Amino acid sequence: MRARAEIDLAALRANVRTLRALAPGAAFMAVVKADAYGHGMVPCARAAVEAGATWVGAATPEEALALRAAGIQGRLMCWLWTPGGPWREGVEADLDMSVSGLWALREVSAAARAVGRTARIQLKADTGLGRNGCMPADWPELVSQARQAEDEGLVRVTGLWSHFACADEPGHPSIAAQLALFREMVAAAEERGIRPEVRHIANSPGTLTLPETHFDLVRPGIAMYGISPSPEVGTSEEFGLRPVMRLSASLALVKHAPGGHGVSYGHHYVTPGETTLGLVPVGYGDGIPRHASGTGPVLVGGKWRTVAGRVAMDQFVVDLGGDEPAVGSEAVLFGPGDRGEPTAEDWAQAAGTIAYEIVTRIGSRVPRVYV
Ligand code: PLP
Repeated sequence: MRARAEIDLAALRANVRTLRALAPGAAFMAVVKADAYGHGMVPCARAAVEAGATWVGAATPEEALALRAAGIQGRLMCWLWTPGGPWREGVEADLDMSVSGLWALREVSAAARAVGRTARIQLKADTGLGRNGCMPADWPELVSQARQAEDEGLVRVTGLWSHFACADEPGHPSIAAQLALFREMVAAAEERGIRPEVRHIANSPGTLTLPETHFDLVRPGIAMYGISPSPEVGTSEEFGLRPVMRLSASLALVKHAPGGHGVSYGHHYVTPGETTLGLVPVGYGDGIPRHASGTGPVLVGGKWRTVAGRVAMDQFVVDLGGDEPAVGSEAVLFGPGDRGEPTAEDWAQAAGTIAYEIVTRIGSRVPRVYV
């Protein structure tokens, strides 16, 4: 096989159990958006449910509907709606649909009326992320209109929720500020008669390190895939989490090269002396970051090698320093790290990004092999 991303579903299940134990009083929503951060949405959702997740969360309604169509039962929430979105299908599929503003409340109410069924909605508060969510100034109006729609039997507000901006930076003052505002906005909604089943704000760092953020439900994503949200929060080993994805490729060529030989586009690497070069048949067309040109680590024949020169669309080269592994030998880009291989965090550092992006970007050309 040219390349493969092994997905260790037993590790994912173990991670879910570990995270659930950290938030014993809260329900667990498995966040599987963006193809489960590149790990495969449906198999990961199934595995998370097997390990006790009672909610599954996605960003787009299309993702949530695909999960339902694949047989994922139970509570299924999605939060990134746009005008004209598939609200009717959402009502029919019993999704919990996030509403951040009056336009969304109008659209979901119209869909409920058309389908003849009460829509489950969750009101999202912008407590300081400054992205999606209703601003505090607009909250009373949204809440009272939602109450009215409840009285008309069109919607049931099942949740009040928000999302952190800086929970991956321990001690950041915005964490306490967001939490205080969340409590206020929840209280304001409850004073106006909203009776949510769940109130929630905790992502992975909240779940891992901030028990006061757990409320009725936690919503971890990256930690479920065995990756720490940031080095400042801690390492995955410290939390007992195991990385779920292992990315490897088979060397497509091993050859001798003289000193002074330019390697890959732009000749940004020139062999310092006589050496051997190995061709790794994955590139930015597979999601390997081009920013890791000259820096990305790869385990070949028991040693870490570095991407020599540029990452191209379909391939890159490593300098094997005279070693001669057989063509077809395994090159491990990243994995759990306990067999000497680099981790997704190592690649994130090499590419100047976050590990979330490394795993999420691994493209569909790389087959997922569930182990
Ligand atoms: N909740 C929402 C609304 C999100 O957008 C995300 C992902 O960014 C998560 C939860 C999970 O976040 P994390 O992967 O940091 O745990």
